[in-house]
Amino acid sequence: MDINEILQKKLDSRISAIKAADIRSEQLRREIPAVAEIDTSLRAVSLKIMDAAINGKEELIEKIISVKNENDNLLLKRASVLEQNGYSADYDSPKFSCKLCSDSGYIELNFCECVKKSFNTDQYTGSGLGKALYNKDFNNFSLKYYNSKNNSEFTARENMTMIFNDCKRYSQRFSPSSDNILMIGGTGLGKTHLSAAIAKEVLSKGYLVIYDSAQSIFDGYEAVRFGKDNRENIKKYESCSLLIIDDLGAECMTQYTVAVFSSLLNWRIVNSKPTIISTNFTPQQIKKSYGDRIYSRLLGEFKIMRFSGEDIRLIKISETKPE
Ligand SMILES: [Zn+2]
Repeated sequence: MDINEILQKKLDSRISAIKAADIRSEQLRREIPAVAEIDTSLRAVSLKIMDAAINGKEELIEKIISVKNENDNLLLKRASVLEQNGYSADYDSPKFSCKLCSDSGYIELNFCECVKKSFNTDQYTGSGLGKALYNKDFNNFSLKYYNSKNNSEFTARENMTMIFNDCKRYSQRFSPSSDNILMIGGTGLGKTHLSAAIAKEVLSKGYLVIYDSAQSIFDGYEAVRFGKDNRENIKKYESCSLLIIDDLGAECMTQYTVAVFSSLLNWRIVNSKPTIISTNFTPQQIKKSYGDRIYSRLLGEFKIMRFSGEDIRLIKISETKPE
């Protein structure tokens, strides 16, 4: 849902809360004659207020104050009549889901917290970032698992520190025309963690982010192709501000999936929409599996991040094993 749909939903719930309250008021007037009488007087008082506002001159304020007192007294009387008859005083006042904005969605000219909250939750659930990825952010990414022994130009830890900083900077400075990123490296080197961390940060800025595995994206296109799903459900891969394709190469590859990948990639590049892809494949494997065109697209249009080190999941498991 975009923000307009959320506001519309709020407004709908406001209108139905008011309607339901009106129905309860009518019920009270039917059941309790005293309430019907008071409501007639309240209506007369509100006409007096309008009349004072239109016709009153010098004595306007005094008039409004006296009518206002009359109004308050009637409301007090109404509340006590309701209680005498076993109803709570607010029995027929509208029950809004948000007490701050009475479901109008606004507080003065700003969006109410309830609107911001449902926007974020909605973005989050729609993003594909499930529970497993929820706890992956920049704060809990540990560099200590990367080897700091110097057996090449950079140690794995130095390399990963640079990648970590690049990813953090990327998410903090994200704009709809940010770079594309290709994360290359073996299993368990933190590609998923860092791409989920980017997704979370970019989502919190209010951008539409879609995070999905290559397999699930291609399955989606396949389902539409065979009429099993609506095209609307794959449009998000094209229209989102940031698309994160996890684990390219793990999918069941066919000529069709290669064609889908190629056209999705092309569409996003032509429309300057950033994409992040993570893969266990080496550049050579990408070339072999997806062909020259995709290979040169990826190498030409994507910033390459080469993840290095040893499988962190294995290191973590061996750490928790008793001696
Ligand atoms: Zn609210």
